[in-house]
Amino acid sequence: MICFMCKGSTLNELSTFTTDMEGCVIVIKKVPSFVCEQCGEISYNGEVARRLEQIVKSITIATAEVAVVSYSEKAA
Ligand SMILES: [Zn+2]
Repeated sequence: MICFMCKGSTLNELSTFTTDMEGCVIVIKKVPSFVCEQCGEISYNGEVARRLEQIVKSITIATAEVAVVSYSEKAA
């Protein structure tokens, strides 16, 4: 895969995805991602992006200020 920012080559790595949803910080660990060797930009393939969206939606039901989950735990 090629980095969409700088056209550099990317490595398959597990990274941490963080987002903010209505005051709740959601941290999803060990997400399969592409990390650019040159600029460090992180991108996800379509399937992973969809799953991240689903995980985020499922978490916002709970009322927590910070939610930390592992991607693999939710991936089943
Ligand atoms: Zn790059």
